[in-house]
Amino acid sequence: MSTDRGRLIVVSGPSGVGKSTVVAALHERHPFFFSVSVTTRRRRPGEVDGVDYRFVTPETFDRLRSSGRLLEWTEYAGHQYGTPKDPVLEQLASGNDVLLDIEVNGAAQVKAAFPEAITVFVAPPSMEALEERLRGRGDTDPEQIDRRLEIAAWQLSNARDTFDHVVVNRRVEDTVAQILRILAAPPTRADSS
Ligand code: 5GP
Repeated sequence: MSTDRGRLIVVSGPSGVGKSTVVAALHERHPFFFSVSVTTRRRRPGEVDGVDYRFVTPETFDRLRSSGRLLEWTEYAGHQYGTPKDPVLEQLASGNDVLLDIEVNGAAQVKAAFPEAITVFVAPPSMEALEERLRGRGDTDPEQIDRRLEIAAWQLSNARDTFDHVVVNRRVEDTVAQILRILAAPPTRADSS
């Protein structure tokens, strides 16, 4: 990999683990281009179209996917999510690091296509802590929460085999510090927690 290309950083982890907070705090300490995904799910209160996601219809999503404009995509808890390809490739070519906040299927697709990508799984301290956070957030209906918890249990059991790094999110500052250490280290496969 030539050194003037940016690095592709993939941050994954279960819904409710606090990934968005970690990513926002990381952004203050490390410059990167945040890839804005397209999704067919509905906008939550406080989310901004074009900033948090591009909210699209299933028809638009299908069109983007079938015309090869997504780097990866998945269905998650009944909705489609995908990473627009062009902005990511352009930013990497310009030498900027790019961060994808995506779920585990997408992370696996990215790692297969870009083996040099740095993949980080953000894990909750426990399933109980995750459930508490998901229910406390109050923006997801109970049926969706149950689905997300089921998916999370499966993700956690697989994460150490499929990700370069696993970081347990106890305190945001510590999690960010760990990710910064990962980014500062030469590219090797190592888990930390
Ligand atoms: P949420 O609906 O809570 O915003 O996101 C649900 C899950 O979808 C999260 O784990 C998030 O990281 C993931 N996600 C968001 N965008 C994408 C994407 O473009 N591709 C994939 N594979 N997952 C995504």
